[in-house]
Amino acid sequence: MRTKVYHYYEECFRAPIYLLCPIENNAILPTIKRICGVSFEKPAENCDANAIAVSNSHQRYYFIAMRRMNRSVLVHECVHVANFILQEREVPISIKEDEVQAYLVEEIYRNLSRLFKQTRKEH
Ligand SMILES: [Zn+2]
Repeated sequence: MRTKVYHYYEECFRAPIYLLCPIENNAILPTIKRICGVSFEKPAENCDANAIAVSNSHQRYYFIAMRRMNRSVLVHECVHVANFILQEREVPISIKEDEVQAYLVEEIYRNLSRLFKQTRKEH
């Protein structure tokens, strides 16, 4: 399986967000290291999808790694990435105040989903 990498820059929260899909579990660490030069703790072995945040000295990076595309799982991982970003920026979210969270999940999903779809059409 050949790893594919998609990414965009989330302007509103200044966050580079990557989708690695398809990707095998053993390709996740080397791919992330190639992109941002950082080694980190190994993600869970038998997960089909992971949301991972790593930093180098310049930047924080957000990754969603998926063995294969599954749009409902992609939404799930987008929620994790949105929560990483909001927590790190100390944006308060709660059951009553969840609009920013919902907006960010929507934004991340729309962008990653569009990138994935566009590239698929070229084949
Ligand atoms: Zn989860």
